[in-house]
Amino acid sequence: MAAGRRDAARELHRVHILGVLRDHGSANRADLIRATGLSRPTISSIVTELLDDGTIREVGKYTSGTTKGRPSQLLALTPPSGHALSVDIGHTHVRAVVADSAGHVLQERVVAFAQRAATDHALSQARRLVAEVAAAARVSPDGVIGATVGVPSPLDRSGRPAAARFAGLDLMDPLGLDSYTDRIRFVNDADLGAVGEAAFGAGSRFGTFIYVKLSHGVGAGLILGGRLFQGRGYAGDIGHIRVVDDGEVCLCGNRGCLETIASSAALLRALQPAHDSPLDFTDLVRLADSGDPGTQALLSDAGRTIGRALSAVVTTLNPEAIVVGGALGSLGGPVVRGIQDALDRYCQPAAMRDLVVTVAACGDHAEVLGGVAVAFGLVE
Ligand SMILES: [Zn+2]
Repeated sequence: MAAGRRDAARELHRVHILGVLRDHGSANRADLIRATGLSRPTISSIVTELLDDGTIREVGKYTSGTTKGRPSQLLALTPPSGHALSVDIGHTHVRAVVADSAGHVLQERVVAFAQRAATDHALSQARRLVAEVAAAARVSPDGVIGATVGVPSPLDRSGRPAAARFAGLDLMDPLGLDSYTDRIRFVNDADLGAVGEAAFGAGSRFGTFIYVKLSHGVGAGLILGGRLFQGRGYAGDIGHIRVVDDGEVCLCGNRGCLETIASSAALLRALQPAHDSPLDFTDLVRLADSGDPGTQALLSDAGRTIGRALSAVVTTLNPEAIVVGGALGSLGGPVVRGIQDALDRYCQPAAMRDLVVTVAACGDHAEVLGGVAVAFGLVE
């Protein structure tokens, strides 16, 4: 083959490989061979060239549940330079950051609310924080790669928050993000926590794991084979798995959901009789952190209830790890031990083999860092 034609063929193979990585987010060499039909030596040679010139990078290891041996190296496109705007709208806080693709936070602003904030108030605070971080980081619109907004709600098929508290609200305009970028995505907060842990935290060494967010409510994000799995928008909504047949009616309209037993509201109801002054979420986190015996007992039981519900998911998906985060989950201790105990008891033993149950590493930054990873396309 003439040198020119060989170069043209090689260029075509490069484009083909880069296209597969763009579509899949990340892939190992075996995936590339399957997707392109190219030979192992060709893939190997072009991958080495792409790694050397910085077009692609190694992003972690993926262990297939069905193959023995060394975990395979995942490859992904090198993210573009620039900055991401990431906003996390929680029940009692709003956080906004400007960060780069390595997850380095350049500017950050947070507001905390004593009570669950009205959504329009949270949105107006978010707008103020976005303007502040953008000004402080001196970002220019052409330097912003994208913006992500984490919301405590599932997303409908058009990517809009489905929870009643967001109904009828214009979400784009109030946040003011469109003055910086037209790449704006809304993502469920537990999903973003999973992505944050996958890109920058305790999940980075696992290809398949479940991130359990234990905060005001109970939610989960699923990272399957290195990618976020959202189903049709409600995947991972474990807080609404029914755990008591004749239990309390839940916000979702069903009854006996996990959230009626293990959410912060349920824990506070159970804890209140032992305390004179009214307790709120901040008190709950403080009591949990200080080792208060009543709170420890409640969290241990909540962990077991969560673990029992989770055991069906673990038996079904056979993940490598459970990463426990959120304001209450990140404390570790009795809630994580409770989850582990229930998984040991209720999971199919083979699914439990080598399962790691661990505390999240990104703490209260998991969601904003997940937003950064989404904006840069680090985890699809
Ligand atoms: Zn429910």
